[in-house]
Amino acid sequence: MAVINNVEKVAVILRNQGVISPEQLQEIRRLMEPPPTRHRRRAVHELRKARKEEKYAPDVISAMKLFSIAGKPVDEELIISVVAKEYGIPFRKVDPLDMDAKVVSETLPKPFALKHHVLPVALLGRELTVATPEPEDAAVVQQIVVATGYRVNHVLSARSEIDKTLKQFFGFQTSVAMAEKEVTGQQAGLANLEQLSKLKSEDEISSSDLHIQNAVDLLLHYALTNRASDIHLEPKREHTVVRMRIDGALVETQKIPRVVHGAIISRIKILARMDISEKRRPQDGRIKVQREGKESEMRVSVLPVAFGEKAVIRIFDAEMALKSLEVLGFFPEELETYKRFLAKPNGIILVTGQTGSGKTSTLYSSLKHLYTPETNIVTIEDPIEMVVPEFNQVAVNPAIDLTFASALRSILRQDPDIIMVGEIRDRETAENAVQAALTGHLVLSTLHTNDTASSLTRLYDIGIEPYQIRSTLIGLVSQRLVRVICEHCKTDVVVAPEELKAAGIANSKPLTLKKGAGCDKCRFTGYYGRTGVHEVMDITENLRNMIDGETPDTAIRQAARKAGMRILQENAVRKMLAGVTTLDEVLRLFSL
Ligand SMILES: [Zn+2]
Repeated sequence: MAVINNVEKVAVILRNQGVISPEQLQEIRRLMEPPPTRHRRRAVHELRKARKEEKYAPDVISAMKLFSIAGKPVDEELIISVVAKEYGIPFRKVDPLDMDAKVVSETLPKPFALKHHVLPVALLGRELTVATPEPEDAAVVQQIVVATGYRVNHVLSARSEIDKTLKQFFGFQTSVAMAEKEVTGQQAGLANLEQLSKLKSEDEISSSDLHIQNAVDLLLHYALTNRASDIHLEPKREHTVVRMRIDGALVETQKIPRVVHGAIISRIKILARMDISEKRRPQDGRIKVQREGKESEMRVSVLPVAFGEKAVIRIFDAEMALKSLEVLGFFPEELETYKRFLAKPNGIILVTGQTGSGKTSTLYSSLKHLYTPETNIVTIEDPIEMVVPEFNQVAVNPAIDLTFASALRSILRQDPDIIMVGEIRDRETAENAVQAALTGHLVLSTLHTNDTASSLTRLYDIGIEPYQIRSTLIGLVSQRLVRVICEHCKTDVVVAPEELKAAGIANSKPLTLKKGAGCDKCRFTGYYGRTGVHEVMDITENLRNMIDGETPDTAIRQAARKAGMRILQENAVRKMLAGVTTLDEVLRLFSL
């Protein structure tokens, strides 16, 4: 019997390695005893069955939800790592993003890999590293040596991770390979390729081909499991590169053969309800994906480039976008001020920042904060980023003359309480927003500016009169996103005074700050997730009087700081000193 399927043996290893207590070992043993039976014959039968029955020990033990002596949950990962230690075999956490699709799916036959839970994780020269959950896998390793001719380096990994990764890669690679064969195979069989391509276009294959459907499903699923915010499909001369954005950085995840690119793009276009025959113009659409009972919105944009159509899929995780205000990264004082803005019955609140600074998330969270069954919340968006049942959402559509301005006019006749305008870009929209605020509505919107004070100049530039701003503006929030240090590999780093100076910190002595050393949980980036950095400007009486169209931004900013406003950079530095983010992230933010 494999060691890993022997609950008794694994439990003893856990005890040997000092992970569990003698009492916990007894508890596991009691669980494994066959249930008491009245008839001896039956008891013997049960006993034999229990002995023969191979149960994956980590599943049995982790189901007991024990805690180790060190206070860690005794889960599959811990169990496998302890078994690895006992046998002196390296433990390796499986990171799908770190895998080479070719190595995973082409080194070993699929049935063999799945049957023995063998994941080929790396191939360096003639040395193949394989992960299995079983320490005594000599026979399997020998079979791999014979079958591949490589030297084999054995590591241990959690079986659930191995199986998941095998399925993902075999699924995707097989689907793509089958589709490729279907396209090329048919072409090769005919003498006149030209004629064939006219008879049967790639589109025809794509819309009905099961392999292509599977490949696209797997790709979307893969992105969701790996917390990606964007998927890029980029056609190149040789093949299509798939890259995903995770915590703000793009990572190459897959390569797709050139020949199936068109079919994959067509499938995505069908899902996003685009016109698949249109290949020369950019198109936009959206896809709804159900996964584990949760719904995710994906916004798709297709753009023709040199080697075909490039697709970018933006993923909006419903739970991510509808976070409560408390977890957006506001400091308590700033959150309190911002909540005070939201509590006003009418007026305008502006959230400013660059593209990708999380403005829309802040607006959604604000509306969620304001929602009650008695309020009518209407949004005008370009396009609707995420469908929220509690809101009445209108999408701007210039083709039928439905603009921010015209939609806002119509909405005012629909008795709204709170209005969210996606972005104020022109005078008409700005004036309608002012009108709405003056007639008793709370209006939330965004501006594409760098900080709070410069937003006033931007409004003047659009053509809004200072008195209109004075009579409606409640407050401004400017924001950016910084990467958060990975909790699993956070360590100290001593920073010299010269380096601190770049972040505006005058310190004569070095400071001990935090950074991520890099671990498998954060894919060795040292970061996990992102958080907001904010600058909140409360339009007090004093500031209101300064909005005269003549007082420069810098003076207003200074007055606001005097009244207690912390600017973006100050708050970024506070996050760094609190060990949330790194000096690098702060400097990156300063350079923007
Ligand atoms: Zn880490």
